[in-house]
Amino acid sequence: MNRPDNDDLVDVDLYDDGTPLQFGWNQAPGAAAVRAALRGEGPVPENGYATRRQLRSLGLRPGGQQPTPLVWRGGLRRAWLYRIELAVPKRAPTLAQEAALDRAMAARQTCPKCRRRYHYCLRLRTIGSCEECFDGTPADPSSYIASPTTHHLAA
Ligand SMILES: [Zn+2]
Repeated sequence: MNRPDNDDLVDVDLYDDGTPLQFGWNQAPGAAAVRAALRGEGPVPENGYATRRQLRSLGLRPGGQQPTPLVWRGGLRRAWLYRIELAVPKRAPTLAQEAALDRAMAARQTCPKCRRRYHYCLRLRTIGSCEECFDGTPADPSSYIASPTTHHLAA
């Protein structure tokens, strides 16, 4: 019980065991308000604490803040709590980002020879086209979208 690394600890406050701020189950400020908001029975609290998952359900993300430990069941269960007032809105991809992602995927899924767009990425680095154009292996018609007839190169 007498651990040498505790010898230099002088703790005179019987009600302060020296541990950093942490909360037990249901002790965090706003815990009840957060759960009510998640059930749709109240507004999103302006401040208080929530877990990362709760923040996400509320349309928020931690935003780089230092979390506070939540410890319950005698230390058997632990989680991180984040301050709602320091949280920032959850990032949602913009339409432009989604369009850019689709263009990137289209480049990897479209055969440059037959212009079919497949539902999977082609081996463009090794065979440079779809299997059918490369060696005649017939492609499953359900695995591609036929080339758009209106597509023409500018030149
Ligand atoms: Zn092809």
